[in-house]
Amino acid sequence: MNHASNATKFNQNEPRVDWHDGALWFVRQKRDRAAVQVPEWEELRALASRIKEHTLARLDQYLPEFEEKALQNGIRVHWAADAAEHNRIVLGILQQHGFRHMVKSKSMLTEECHLNPFLEQNGIEVIDTDLGERIVQLRREPPSHIVLPAIHLKKQDVGDTFHTHLGTEAGASDPQYLTEAARQHLREKFLGAELALTGVNFAIAETGGFVVCTNEGNADMGVHLARVHIACMGIEKIIPKAEHLGVFLRLLARSATGQPITTYSSHFHRPRPGQEMHLVIVDNGRSAQLNRPDFRNSLKCIRCGACLNTCPVYRRSGGHSYHNAVAGPIGIILAPNLDLHKNADLPFASTLCGSCSNVCPVKIDIHDQIWRWRQVVTAAGEVEVSKSLGMRLLGAVLSGPVGFRLAGRAARLALRGLPFMLKNRWNPWFKQRELPEPPPQSFRDWYVSNRKRPS
Ligand code: SF4
Repeated sequence: MNHASNATKFNQNEPRVDWHDGALWFVRQKRDRAAVQVPEWEELRALASRIKEHTLARLDQYLPEFEEKALQNGIRVHWAADAAEHNRIVLGILQQHGFRHMVKSKSMLTEECHLNPFLEQNGIEVIDTDLGERIVQLRREPPSHIVLPAIHLKKQDVGDTFHTHLGTEAGASDPQYLTEAARQHLREKFLGAELALTGVNFAIAETGGFVVCTNEGNADMGVHLARVHIACMGIEKIIPKAEHLGVFLRLLARSATGQPITTYSSHFHRPRPGQEMHLVIVDNGRSAQLNRPDFRNSLKCIRCGACLNTCPVYRRSGGHSYHNAVAGPIGIILAPNLDLHKNADLPFASTLCGSCSNVCPVKIDIHDQIWRWRQVVTAAGEVEVSKSLGMRLLGAVLSGPVGFRLAGRAARLALRGLPFMLKNRWNPWFKQRELPEPPPQSFRDWYVSNRKRPS
């Protein structure tokens, strides 16, 4: 479970890596075109960032306000300190009704809590109803992207998966044919579902209602057919007022896929007559992150995925390399908070180019936080021995002129006479790079012999 070795595996198929890179860059470009069409784009980003900043500083006010209004609306509210409690609450509701089948629309929180395997172990059939999520579920894979869960798969892969699990024609890969097959398959599951679970994009303290954004209408279909609706949200999903919603809805879809708005922005305020509605509000490490001044901004995230689409490392290493529910730059700054030891490699899966921070609709300083996590990981002694030894050696070389000069001379000699000293399997830097031509002398030597002396 290491990003570098997982990425090495992903990189074995170079044409697929190029295709993956191109597919995500296409989405990034769509985002750019959508953003420039909104003249007040930068003001919207700044406003969204300030609203989140304000709310995160007053969660103790807004969360109880939201709970009170939700209860008044007839929603049953549950609080979960961690993933295990979240999963127990969901299972408890299912068991209380004697239900064994549920449909689920996309929720990264339930991925983070590993809800599906937990429920399956307890005899519950869970069907993911978002098309991409269903594809990866049939393949027993986790999503590789927070918005585009099956972006690592080509239509031929989907055709093979559907042939195996849904009985479509062997070799068929026409997207319309495959989508229709998925539609028929999911329709049956919707009709048989006893309970529907959704995520929450925004929860409004003022009204006690919440909004779920999808492009396929699968959340609505599930909720409208099932007798019980459970919505699961992290504590950071709260926004103070309904009037703030427009700011985020305008940013979310444009940043995610370049659409002006998600196809369905469904507002839920109360259960319909005869229906039961539950809301599970989850902490699972968010309070701890809130308590870290350097990293609390990460809780502003609205999960648009733009930072993944633009990241050169994500695009060329694939989402599964991050061995975490949330991949890419945002995953890098969230995961170490949950388990520093397990995720100590992730802050190094970045070029620190800053493209993620540039596109983030809520202006999270993502690349700065990645850099700061590196320092936390290093201080905690969680860096690989080879890396920490190498860095110590480099620190010693760069901290004095004598060592720097001698190292430069030794490197030029090695480049000329013993290139294998630099380009070998223990030096990952040169794995895909050519050695430079050794210069006849260093810039320092050249400067000393060429500088003009005052006459
Ligand atoms: S960190 Fe910013 S860009 Fe990345 S998913 Fe979250 S909101 Fe989107």
